[in-house]
Amino acid sequence: AEPKMSEAMTAERVRARLETVEVPGGGTLAASGRVSEIVVQGDKVFFSITVAPEEVAAWEPVRARASDLVRKLPGCTGVVVTLTAARSAPPAAARPQGGAARARAQAGNAIPNVRSIVAVASGKGGVGKSTTAVNIALGLKAEGLNVALLDADIYGPSIPRLLGLSGKPELVGERTIAPLSKFGIEVMSIGFMVGEETPMVWRGPMVMSAITQMLREVRWGQTDVMVVDMPPGTGDAQLTMAQQVPLAGAVIVSTPQDLALIDARRGVAMFRKVEVPVLGVVENMATFCCPNCGHVTPIFGHGGARAEAEKLGVPFLGEVPLDPLIRERSDAGLPLVVSEPESAPARIYRDIAARLRTEIGRGAAAARPAPRIVFES
Ligand code: ADP
Repeated sequence: AEPKMSEAMTAERVRARLETVEVPGGGTLAASGRVSEIVVQGDKVFFSITVAPEEVAAWEPVRARASDLVRKLPGCTGVVVTLTAARSAPPAAARPQGGAARARAQAGNAIPNVRSIVAVASGKGGVGKSTTAVNIALGLKAEGLNVALLDADIYGPSIPRLLGLSGKPELVGERTIAPLSKFGIEVMSIGFMVGEETPMVWRGPMVMSAITQMLREVRWGQTDVMVVDMPPGTGDAQLTMAQQVPLAGAVIVSTPQDLALIDARRGVAMFRKVEVPVLGVVENMATFCCPNCGHVTPIFGHGGARAEAEKLGVPFLGEVPLDPLIRERSDAGLPLVVSEPESAPARIYRDIAARLRTEIGRGAAAARPAPRIVFES
């Protein structure tokens, strides 16, 4: 056996492997000028391959082959390789005719086995988006639905902690991994692949790569609703994300201050821009419930969110109080909907989930066209 030291993953070793991968139009992947910076973090490897939208179909086998070869490198425990579609064509290579429409259709394609995908988003971080996503997902489960939870908040994947769930997804078949599961729902997070404590520097294309892979290379079971915990904010990454995923709609989580200000509005505007229906607004930390006396104080004034939602023309799904119990249980990996199902906040989360279910059903009945896809260059 080789000594351990020589097994350290390096970008050079990865690149050497890519010299054996042939590409459409001739030559090797390593020499194609399309491979992004190769990022090695411990025993995990990340890179992307830039293609024009119409080249996606022709280059998918290249991506798959590169991923397989790198995964077989000794010492490599995880690979994230994806095609990143650029608006302008990258250098070289023959381009198949008439492929643009096909590439678009593929990008917006449904995920096998998954009926509806709902994004949980927020205008900024720290408003309780992930906590809300987890409890809504479990609330939908309590409604009797088959539920999946995808942690797309790759900058700060907190779903593993909120569910008290760790482990490594197993490879099933060639390139597909099995989701983990907890409390009866299927779960996938980049945190399972890189560890929650690993500081990740995400460079441009890696973001979409990782999210696409978690969506499309995971063997999801029969799923009525997949809840996606989105990265916070309303920048380009979120916009692209919203377009890549065939969303049934979005839920926007906001604190009363943000609602009164601008962040939630920005969220609504962002989804409207890409023709994703906003299924509703959840107001978080609206009121303070005193753990000693049970008295509820509307710290920020009351009813503002409902009025604001009305003004924006989106459904108001409910308000969750600022309750120390929510924070304690969440941080202990015991979401209230399952750990204290009879508590007031758990009931609120279930009501929100029930309303959301109604909104999803309404949207499905209206049969929307797939969202348009715009590729970032
Ligand atoms: P985000 O996903 O928006 O960054 P999180 O869901 O991670 O926010 O929540 C941030 C912190 O606030 C966490 O410690 C969480 O436990 C806490 N928190 C979220 N919602 C509530 C609430 N309604 N009451 C008390 N604490 C909450």
